[in-house]
Amino acid sequence: MASALEIRNLKKSFGSLEVLKDVSLTAKQGEVICIIGTSGSGKSTFLRCINLLETPDSGEVLVKGELIKMKRNKNGKLNPIDQNQVDRIRSKLSMVFQDFNLWAHMTILQNVIEAPIYVQKIEKNEAIQNGLSLLEKVGIVEKASQYPSSLSGGQQQRAAIARALAMKPDVLLFDEPTSSLDPELVSEVLKVMKSLAEEGRTMIIVTHEMGFAKEVSSKTIFLDEGRIEEEGKPNDIFNKPKSIRLKQFLAANL
Ligand code: ADP
Ligand code: MG
Repeated sequence: MASALEIRNLKKSFGSLEVLKDVSLTAKQGEVICIIGTSGSGKSTFLRCINLLETPDSGEVLVKGELIKMKRNKNGKLNPIDQNQVDRIRSKLSMVFQDFNLWAHMTILQNVIEAPIYVQKIEKNEAIQNGLSLLEKVGIVEKASQYPSSLSGGQQQRAAIARALAMKPDVLLFDEPTSSLDPELVSEVLKVMKSLAEEGRTMIIVTHEMGFAKEVSSKTIFLDEGRIEEEGKPNDIFNKPKSIRLKQFLAANL
């Protein structure tokens, strides 16, 4: 069976700054991969390249075995060839951001049903039913008709997770989903993410929550200066780190 997600030899620079230097990753169906690393090591850029919010300079992205078709332009940079393919595949890779990115002028339910209705052309009643059951799942169905500003950060992030799930994604991408939250609100979001992991969803999670990464991930990747410095089972990464850089990182962050 094809992997849920495969990234081959991804490279990305901004001007002269080489942010990603040949990064590869394979996520099998149902795998939860946590990415850890210091600020500036390229974690967000990596996630953004996976769903083509950034275009990689080189490398390949395959979702469920389907290669996103890209071609080199005359500057030597890659460009997607088929925007329809990019839109279709991107809708199968839902991303959850550090700052929630909810639409402030829409209610929580409207946030959740907007893309299913207007992008995926799901019938409105069906989108509403599905949206309400997702809000139920993340524990905030009573907030359906409220606006984001009236919710706590933890509730807003759970709404953002419901919105991501509403697209019925093949892979969920999380970029430090708890980093903007007050400490007492972190656990309610991690709990929802843990339940998604237990359901067998394929997830790529950039996180500073080391305890969570250790407990939930099937594989942990330590990204350092744009390279995978070390990867493996969480027990090995956290308890038996090999590289000096990872040891230093863990000493500062555990
Ligand atoms: P992380 O998420 O690990 O903190 P990022 O991927 O956000 O790291 O950033 C990696 C490096 O790339 C940083 O030095 C950052 O300043 C730089 N960078 C990220 N995005 C851009 C951009 N759009 N233009 C220029 N530099 C960028
Ligand atoms: Mg980041």
